[in-house]
Amino acid sequence: MAKKGHKYIFVVGGVMSGVGKGVATSSIAKILQAKGFIVNPIKIDPYLNVDAGTMNPTEHGEVFVLRSGLETDQDMGNYERFLDVDLRDEDYMTSGMVYKTVIERERALGYKGKFVETIPHVRDEIIQRLERAAEVNGSQISIIEIGGTIGDFQNALYIEAARVMEMQHPDDVLMVMVSYLPVPNKIGEMKTKPTQNAVRQLNSYGIQPDLIIARSEVVLDRRRKEKLAIWCNVRAEHVISAPDIESIYEVPLNFEKDNLSDIILDLLKIRARRKGDLTRWRGFVRRTLKAKKTVPIAIVGKYFDTGDFVLADAYISVIEAIKFSGAKLNVKPVLTWLDSKDFENGALPLSELKKYGGVIVPGGFGETGVEGKLKVIQYVREHKIPYFGLCYGMQLAVVEYARHLAGLKDAHTTEINPKTAHPVIWVMPAQKKNIEERKYGGTMRLGVYPAYLKKGTIARAAYGKEIVEERHRHRYEVNPEYIKKLEGAGLVFSGVSPDKVLMEIAELPKKKHPFFLGTQFHPEFQARPLHPHPLFTAFLAAAIKHRRSN
Ligand code: GLN
Repeated sequence: MAKKGHKYIFVVGGVMSGVGKGVATSSIAKILQAKGFIVNPIKIDPYLNVDAGTMNPTEHGEVFVLRSGLETDQDMGNYERFLDVDLRDEDYMTSGMVYKTVIERERALGYKGKFVETIPHVRDEIIQRLERAAEVNGSQISIIEIGGTIGDFQNALYIEAARVMEMQHPDDVLMVMVSYLPVPNKIGEMKTKPTQNAVRQLNSYGIQPDLIIARSEVVLDRRRKEKLAIWCNVRAEHVISAPDIESIYEVPLNFEKDNLSDIILDLLKIRARRKGDLTRWRGFVRRTLKAKKTVPIAIVGKYFDTGDFVLADAYISVIEAIKFSGAKLNVKPVLTWLDSKDFENGALPLSELKKYGGVIVPGGFGETGVEGKLKVIQYVREHKIPYFGLCYGMQLAVVEYARHLAGLKDAHTTEINPKTAHPVIWVMPAQKKNIEERKYGGTMRLGVYPAYLKKGTIARAAYGKEIVEERHRHRYEVNPEYIKKLEGAGLVFSGVSPDKVLMEIAELPKKKHPFFLGTQFHPEFQARPLHPHPLFTAFLAAAIKHRRSN
């Protein structure tokens, strides 16, 4: 089974979810990458969905799309952003995928008539997938985040796989527990007991954590570290304090204050390949924290129903992309969430939009809030407020333009009105078949496609090149039948597919509007801290200018 010499770091969560296991995993990967290793982070989602594509963003958060088109968990986005690499299909695993492979193999007589059982067959499929991921990445260290919390039924099998791997190659496997230490208001003291219990639970699986990352509101004092050391059988130096901080991108820097990469390399019995250098990263963090100038940006969406926590989660890549461009331009973007339904029913007047430097309508599906978004788009177009539409935000900009400037009154997307007289946004025949046959999983236009950019446009100027590749996730497209008409009315399709059939970017000339641009793709998926996305940067620059002149 597990190959000797390749190192595996498993990250498991104790006490409760949502305390930053993904950021801890990304940060561990980051500091090891800085020491010269090829690392590959892996996310394991223990649910039975085959991928994250069919899940509702209000429940699950954003669906992050890889280059290949695989629809994954938002943690994958964090890994890509921290490491500045494109991840592969092999770096993501759900129980749905694992079981599907095992069951299909069984149907093909792959188990030669034997009983097929969770142990060993499913467990071994998990281990094989981890090995394959290491192989295709050519990595030296894999960092594997096991979703859920210790004690869940769902993830026990993955922890068992880790145990077997560690038993076979004790020097090659490291177990990290990310735990939470509450400071209850009334008591005013940091409590270690929940973490002690979580460790005990992990022990009951036959696993001893090598490191504890202690998440808390505040820094862990020496006393707590010693207490955990005694009760959890982990050396006090191996309890790493991870207090709440302003920016998640500071976490790798904080870890290194405790020399975490050296501790990990010692435990794995390997030597750094170079002196870790996080200078550029530190510069980026400093710029995000120090920027004094602010620019207010409105995001008009609909996935806000379950409160603030989910709200940020559903659009996380968009938020981060704005931040990265902010760091580049030395401004702090201040984001406000506006629910498009409020513009529909008049709870918010459109003049509210005057407060912002720019407005974004991000990706979305279905009917809710669409008319509100259309009103917003019309308003910002007419009032020359910078506008950036992402996927649905582009499609709806085309609908709005068709209705009010191309004389196509009833224009719509067939996603909302299949009977519209002017289906300016429609589905290509292949997609139509998918919908009719209810084949929804993994069948959208997904992943990277090239686009050719027209000279003299905002898009071309922003990217500074002719051919770009961007990630997609949508079923509907601009209807080729209406392109002439829309262009005749002044809309510019500044990015098109190589065969010129699919419209990838729509914009208005700078003479008419300072920044009115929509992309059929999702530029946010490729924005990185040290490589901000050129379109987000161009939009933000326009927003700053708009604020200054108003
Ligand atoms: N609902 C639209 C489509 O399927 C847009 C999707 C999106 O914004 N990601 O084409």
